[in-house]
Amino acid sequence: MMPTWSGAAVGTGLAALVAGTAWRAGSLSRGGAVAALVTGSIAMSAGRPWGLFLVIWFVSASLASRMGRRTKEAATGDVVAKGGQRDATQVLANGGVFALCALWSFLDHGTVPAVAGASALVAAGADTLATETGTLWRGRPWSLRTRGPVPTGTSGAVSLPGTFGMVGGALLLAFVASVCGLIGRADIALVALSGVVGAVADTVIGAFWQARRWCPQCERETEQALHRCGVATHPWRGVAWLTNDAVNLACTIIGALFALGVRIVV
Ligand SMILES: [Zn+2]
Repeated sequence: MMPTWSGAAVGTGLAALVAGTAWRAGSLSRGGAVAALVTGSIAMSAGRPWGLFLVIWFVSASLASRMGRRTKEAATGDVVAKGGQRDATQVLANGGVFALCALWSFLDHGTVPAVAGASALVAAGADTLATETGTLWRGRPWSLRTRGPVPTGTSGAVSLPGTFGMVGGALLLAFVASVCGLIGRADIALVALSGVVGAVADTVIGAFWQARRWCPQCERETEQALHRCGVATHPWRGVAWLTNDAVNLACTIIGALFALGVRIVV
């Protein structure tokens, strides 16, 4: 579909409404709202299915993050880098590949850009839901790296509720993408599988290479630059630039590339 100026104007207006509401509700920081506005405007200009799927994805991911926030903060406060409010880097790490695929759809009018874009967002959503369900339902996380139990919220750990959340979330989101008209019914299974592949890759990268920091005060590993005890942490292990956001971006890239690979081979 070719974008039209009027379509783009309406899309940008709707994106501003959603981003503004999310900012006021505390789901996005100010920078996060600007990044969401840009991502949303591109998606809405690509057509109603792109915009609709992005909005539903964003609302469900925000609700999942808010659900039982107090329980989760108590469980993960020591470990995770950021709370429920998404900043610009997080928004782009999750939605950047989807926006690129939306731009690609202006040039390629076939089904491939939508399948790749949906897979990227489903991967990010499956990863989010895995973390949220694993934390909320108190799974007993198990580290892929040390093959032993780790604190809740640790990147690269797996739990039974988290795994259900990941697979269930991928299937549900792929189905939603089809209901929105972004992908055909025949592509639901491929997009769900690509989402799971991206989310599993996220977990593996998180386990072995993601940057970890050390709090000298509490003598604990964390992802926070400033630990919640107020002491500055220092790099500990992993690849220093491979932050949680970089790993999330990799998750969406791998989800999209897996779908593309299957489309090319099959
Ligand atoms: Zn500390």
